[in-house]
Amino acid sequence: MKPYLRVCAEINLNAAAYNLNSMKENLEDGTRMIAVVKTDGYGHGAIPIARMAEAYDYLWGFATATVEEALQLRQAGIRKPVLILGFTFPDACEEIVRQEIRPTVFTMAAAEQLSREAVRQGRTVSIHIKVDTGMSRIGLKDDREGAELVREISLLPNVELEGLYTHFARADERDKGPAREQLARFQAFAELLKDRGVKIRMHHCSNSAGIFDLKDANMDAVRAGISIYGLYPSEDVNRLAVPVIPVMTLKSHVVYVKEIGPGTSVSYGGTFTAEKPMRIATVPVGYGDGYPRSLSNKGKVIIRGRQASILGRICMDQFMVDVTDIPEARPGDLVTLIGTDGGNGITMEDLGGLSGRFNYELACDIGKRVPRRFWKDGRVVAEQDYFEATGLTELWEEAEP
Ligand SMILES: *Cc1c(COP(=O)(O)O)cnc(C)c1O
Repeated sequence: MKPYLRVCAEINLNAAAYNLNSMKENLEDGTRMIAVVKTDGYGHGAIPIARMAEAYDYLWGFATATVEEALQLRQAGIRKPVLILGFTFPDACEEIVRQEIRPTVFTMAAAEQLSREAVRQGRTVSIHIKVDTGMSRIGLKDDREGAELVREISLLPNVELEGLYTHFARADERDKGPAREQLARFQAFAELLKDRGVKIRMHHCSNSAGIFDLKDANMDAVRAGISIYGLYPSEDVNRLAVPVIPVMTLKSHVVYVKEIGPGTSVSYGGTFTAEKPMRIATVPVGYGDGYPRSLSNKGKVIIRGRQASILGRICMDQFMVDVTDIPEARPGDLVTLIGTDGGNGITMEDLGGLSGRFNYELACDIGKRVPRRFWKDGRVVAEQDYFEATGLTELWEEAEP
């Protein structure tokens, strides 16, 4: 096994399992879960997370944003239903039907294309209808016209209306009024469909914030995303309702330690200048790895159990920290960028706060140059390394001699 000394994101699958179970415990009996694993599992690795989660009976299936993400799960042997939350372009119809992926549908044109392809293949395509109750993003209108459209879609051959869903815009806020209004609009729309004799098996509304704070929005299923990964949807959700623990740690090692004198500047632009003799350590990680440049002169890491402040700008591949008060710091020392060491800890949320970035965004942006190592029951069960399989298909002509 490679040591991955430069940088490594370690993913604790037991923590992800704990978080899933923790959310499950806050649900009504009979409400199932959909694990959202878009953007490679919020940067944590979609396939190992899905493989771990698939074993749970209460898990209905998975959700991705794109067809490529859905097909990647199928290719990895994931058998449970996979729902695509975003718009699916028509060229993907054939694979969707063949691989029994659930597309989100909200137009007649898309429904007809899927129906035609399903008839051609002699299969049934299960779809989820998205209704817009307040995001103004995708989804048909929650009015009579919208209900009529769903009724017409329900009559198409080889199409099963498996699900009806909407998405909360503000469930993570302290004031649950706007979310409750969306919930009421969704329920009213479901009634309009009932009146028209349209039968739909699954209704689902909640994201992580809804799971925390809106029990009456549980319905047949909930879509859990960010909290699988041990991150909270916002500062304002009831954290006591669903305890979660971080899944990712990010670690590196010191490559160089040196002394600098008063007046010496550090990194591009000379935005930090020493006023006294200092010891500084160089860490071989940068914004090219997704470590935000906005942590320049603001962030902290942990070395030998103590906090070390970032000095000067974060470069693409390196940055410097102050180890003046950690005299035993040496090249080769472990550097914790996210995680805990000797009672000191830095969370993704801390980095979000310090860098002025959103914790979701920070997790998604941990780059492909950072290898992921997956732990379960004290063992490494998988590794994801871009340099082992770049996903690059080379199509150029052979070079002339
Ligand atoms: C991303 C997403 C989710 C999950 O949201 P979290 O806040 O991460 O739990 C649920 N539903 C839809 C439609 C989404 O796009």
